[in-house]
Amino acid sequence: MTNETQSPALTDGFHLLIDALKLNGIDTIFGLPGIPITDLTRMAQGEGLRVISFRHEQHAGNAAAAAGFLTQKPGICLTVSAPGFLNGLTSLANATTNCFPMILISGSSEREIVDLQQGDYEEMDQLAIAKPLCKAAFRVLHAQDIGVGIARAIRAALSGRPGGVYLDLPAKLFGQTMDAEAGKKSLIKVVDAAPRQIPAPDSVQRALNLLKGAKRPLILLGKGAAYAQADADIRALVEKTGIPYLPMSMAKGLLPDTHEQSASAARSYVLAEADVVMLVGARLNWLLSHGKGKTWGAPNAKQFIQIDIAPTEIDSNVAIAAPVIGDIGSCVSALLAGMGSNWAKAPADWTGAIADRKDKNQAKMAITLALNPSPMNYHSALSAIRDIVKAHPDAMLVNEGANTLDFTRSIVDMYQPRKRLDVGTWGIMGIGMGFSVAAAVITGKPVIAIEGDSAFGFSGMEVETICRYNLPICVVVFNNNGVYKGTDVNASGGTDVAPTVFVKGARYDKIMEAFGGVGVHATTPAELTQAMNEAIASGKPTLINAVIDETAGTESGRITSLNPKTAAKK
Ligand code: ADP
Repeated sequence: MTNETQSPALTDGFHLLIDALKLNGIDTIFGLPGIPITDLTRMAQGEGLRVISFRHEQHAGNAAAAAGFLTQKPGICLTVSAPGFLNGLTSLANATTNCFPMILISGSSEREIVDLQQGDYEEMDQLAIAKPLCKAAFRVLHAQDIGVGIARAIRAALSGRPGGVYLDLPAKLFGQTMDAEAGKKSLIKVVDAAPRQIPAPDSVQRALNLLKGAKRPLILLGKGAAYAQADADIRALVEKTGIPYLPMSMAKGLLPDTHEQSASAARSYVLAEADVVMLVGARLNWLLSHGKGKTWGAPNAKQFIQIDIAPTEIDSNVAIAAPVIGDIGSCVSALLAGMGSNWAKAPADWTGAIADRKDKNQAKMAITLALNPSPMNYHSALSAIRDIVKAHPDAMLVNEGANTLDFTRSIVDMYQPRKRLDVGTWGIMGIGMGFSVAAAVITGKPVIAIEGDSAFGFSGMEVETICRYNLPICVVVFNNNGVYKGTDVNASGGTDVAPTVFVKGARYDKIMEAFGGVGVHATTPAELTQAMNEAIASGKPTLINAVIDETAGTESGRITSLNPKTAAKK
């Protein structure tokens, strides 16, 4: 039943849901229509929400997660029941792992039938399945509870450590009616959804004492720092202390990568040699070798300060000498205030030693980047892309793959906060087109997606979505004919190609042309540069098939050591 057919004094589940979202400042839904939410998508669009419709729920969910990261508002993903819900669940779990706020709203089948397992259409106990994979999960059974359901979901997604929330809405809920005035009153506008968490003064003092005595201090910025939008204070902290810093991949650009205090080009040296490391919104997980082992130099020679909103993160891998618990904005400003005006800069022998290493490494890299081999390799292609990103510092960069990810992360400098979206904590493939769509929709800026050919395959069909909404996205597929590289052979000598090998010489550019976008086949850095410049200038959906030497990649990029065969040899 819709408003057109009912008494003007009544409202229904559809409209209560839409009104609850709007009341809380949510203006965009990412999703995929179907039973029982098709009418909801139509009505939401009719009521002024932007509804971005995808070809697969996982990508809609990834878009919602990226929107959450960029805006500090929960991104909304709307799916159908059972299979659609399960498709969306991967992105919900990924958002939770990455600490991105999102809400997966799925229609579901009738409780009475599902609970008796009587074989309903798309029967599944979705709430039970979602629960262990997200931060919180709720089900709403009555129209008058929709306001509470949305409020709880928003609060759970945003407060404390952000994450994914599941909201289960059985089909019958949407058609339930109630008095319109009572319905309006039942909605909740969430007040202060992510309350500031002020750090305890003694924890701030403990951290300052440790920092003051450091001979070789290092700051490590993570994507929690990027999420926090405390950009000016973070920059002030780095510059006031003169401490060298390393950005994790999605924290790149918080300060420009060209900043003189960036230690990225001397990463191994500073991780091994630092005596006090201050983590700002970064976890000591696998991406940082769990804070121990060879990467971190002599055993027990380091002390850690950790700023995080989640107290349970502390001591998760190694002892943390000075935990500072609170939101990053409040913690960093408390540290700055505690430093006063005479804080001594990091010792010159330490910063000087880092500068020497950086100069040497950068000079070596410059030689590699200047080579122009044929066919192109990762370095020559990325040298061209690096210049384009430098000329367009406000463009969004999405990046996934194995070698494509590793080389892009280290070669392409970022200049502004929250411009880089990538595979995140899990290092997963498949985020490419979902993140790209969100980046374009949310920021309105040009988007450059640097994709390995394997990674692109996971979300490639969303090229149609990109064309349908005419989004300014330039996808560059690094095509080296396979996963890692295209030269693997079938060990049995049989006719099937090796499991890691794709169709040789594939033309990914034709996929974009099929939907009315611009497709370009590029075999040199000059062709790549020209095509990217044209794509950015025109804003037209573009896919560049960048042909890369098929021998150029390495197994699993930089994480070869995680393959069981390699690990067993160690
Ligand atoms: P990276 O992969 O870049 O190292 P992680 O995702 O591992 O970053 O770490 C992000 C950390 O930031 C998480 O431990 C999370 O609890 C924390 N965090 C997220 N948002 C905030 C915030 N607003 N204030 C403080 N800490 C935050």
